[in-house]
Amino acid sequence: MLLDVSHLGAEFVKRNFRGMVLRCRDVGYDLTRAPVVVSPTAHFLMGGVHIDAQCRSGLDGLFVAGEDAAGVHGANRLGGNGVAESTVFGGLAGDLIADWLADAPNLPYHPPQVDAFIAKCMAPFRRADSDSVKGSASNSVYPLRERLRELMWNHAGLVRDAAGLEVARAGLAELREQWSRVGCGGGLTYNLAWMDYLNLENHLDVCDAIVACALARTESRGSHYRSDFPQPDAAGVHNLLLTLDGGAPRRRAVRFPRLRPGQAA
Ligand SMILES: Cc1cc2nc3c(=O)[nH]c(=O)nc-3n(C[C@H](O)[C@H](O)[C@H](O)COP(=O)(O)OP(=O)(O)OC[C@H]3O[C@@H](n4cnc5c(N)ncnc54)[C@H](O)[C@@H]3O)c2cc1C
Repeated sequence: MLLDVSHLGAEFVKRNFRGMVLRCRDVGYDLTRAPVVVSPTAHFLMGGVHIDAQCRSGLDGLFVAGEDAAGVHGANRLGGNGVAESTVFGGLAGDLIADWLADAPNLPYHPPQVDAFIAKCMAPFRRADSDSVKGSASNSVYPLRERLRELMWNHAGLVRDAAGLEVARAGLAELREQWSRVGCGGGLTYNLAWMDYLNLENHLDVCDAIVACALARTESRGSHYRSDFPQPDAAGVHNLLLTLDGGAPRRRAVRFPRLRPGQAA
C-alpha cells in the first residue's frame, strides 16, 4: 500500500508534516515528492482499566491514567487526543495521589498472596533446569510472543467475525498453556527473557479481554468492526466490563447526562 501526498507540494508537506518527512527520510523515503510504503498498525488501545473521574480504579490505592484507562474516547479516538488524554489524566492522577497519600490508610497486606506471586514469578527458573523442557521449542518465550502477534492480527484485528474470534480464543488458551511451560535461564538482574516471560502473561490477559469483549459486542461501532454484525446495535450504546475471574463481559448502558450522540450542543 502506498501513500502519496506529493500533489500537496513539497513546501506544504515539509511545513505541515515536518516530523513525518524526517522519519521517512531516515528510512530512505522522500514524503514530499514520492509515494511511501504504509501499512496498518495497532495505534491505540481503547479498552483498559475502568476508572472514575478521579482516576480511581476498583482497587484501593491503584490510580490509572492515560492509555491504560478505558472510556475517555468511547469507541473511537480522534487523532491527536491520545497524548492529550495522558497529559490531562496523568496530571490529575498525580495531584489526586498526592492528596490521597496525605492520609492514606494502611492497605491490607496478605503474606500468603505475596509468597504465591513470588513463587509464580520464579517458576520459569525452576523449569529451565528441568530435563523435560531443556532445548525444546516451548522452552523460549519468543516464538510464543510471535505467534500471539500473528493470532491477534489475523483473527482479532481490524475486521472481526465470530468464527475468527473463536479461533483466537482457542489459540490464546493454547498459548497460555505453552507459556506455563516456558523456562528462563540466567539471573534476576537485567534478565530480558524473564521480563518478556512476565510481560507475556499480561499480554495474554489483555488479549483474552479483547477477544471476549469483541465476541460479546454483536454490533459494529467506532473502530469495533464485526463483519457479521456491520450495523450499530439499535438498542443503544453500551460498555462491556470484564473482571479477571473468568466471567463473561457485563453490558452497561452508557449514560449521556448532557448531550446524546447526534444532538446539537
Ligand atoms: C505509532 C504511534 C503514533 C502515535 N501518534 C500519536 C499522535 O500523533 N498524537 C497523539 O495524541 N497520540 C499518538 N499516539 C498515541 C499516544 O502516543 C499514546 O496514547 C500515549 O503516548 C499513551 O501515553 P501513556 O503515558 O498512557 O502510555 P505510554 O506512553 O505507553 O507510557 C507507558 C510507559 O510505561 C513504561 N512501562 C511499561 N511497562 C513497565 C513496567 N513493567 N515497569 C516500568 N515501566 C513500564 C513504558 O516503557 C512506557 O514508557 C501514537 C501511538 C503510536 C503507537
